[in-house]
Amino acid sequence: MDLILFGPPGAGKGTQAQRLIDLLNIPQISTGDMMRAERKSGSELGQKFDSFMSQGKLVPDELVLELFKQRLMQDDAKSGAIFDGFPRTVAQAEALDSILAGLNRKVDKVVSMEVGLDVLIDRICGRFSDPETGQVYHERYNPAPQEIRGRLTQRKDDTEEVVRKRYQEYKTNTEPVLGYYAERGLVATVDGVGELDEITGRIRKALNV
Ligand code: AMP
Repeated sequence: MDLILFGPPGAGKGTQAQRLIDLLNIPQISTGDMMRAERKSGSELGQKFDSFMSQGKLVPDELVLELFKQRLMQDDAKSGAIFDGFPRTVAQAEALDSILAGLNRKVDKVVSMEVGLDVLIDRICGRFSDPETGQVYHERYNPAPQEIRGRLTQRKDDTEEVVRKRYQEYKTNTEPVLGYYAERGLVATVDGVGELDEITGRIRKALNV
């Protein structure tokens, strides 16, 4: 299955993708995670990504697509993937369709997670991740075990100022992607507010799994 988890920053795409990996037996492909890894490596490409990410701007399509294609061609994604944070522009959606068509595949479903701006800001500004496992926590909604709290880190772009910019980018460039897939009858909308298990349940229902 090729599944897109769609929604604004902080909607819970990454968290829910993690929960679907074992269930669907396909990997999560997060372009944001890949870019953060590249940035951490200190490469020239990573620095280029950072110049956009730190300002809450979208990274240009050609850079994203190059990175994405390489990841999709890896063996673990040969029978499908969960796309998290990709596609973020209509041009990326068109490119994804054509890449998948070349592999005799197509986007099977787009699950759109709906969450309002106030909730997004509250979630994003309180989230921390464990650099050792990649697990994401929230200081109030999903607190990390006491013994690992000292090593948690916060994303550089998880400040209210940058979140507002990311949200604006979402509204302008990314939301139209939903229309692109809605025209093809692929979109299922789920309420992204609630307990983690509850939201996973809604997604499973939308996917019939
Ligand atoms: P995320 O981890 O999905 O919230 O992405 C963090 C940041 O990485 C975004 O604010 C963008 O700067 C960049 N980014 C991630 N995925 C994409 C994408 N598909 N297209 C453009 N920029 C992206």
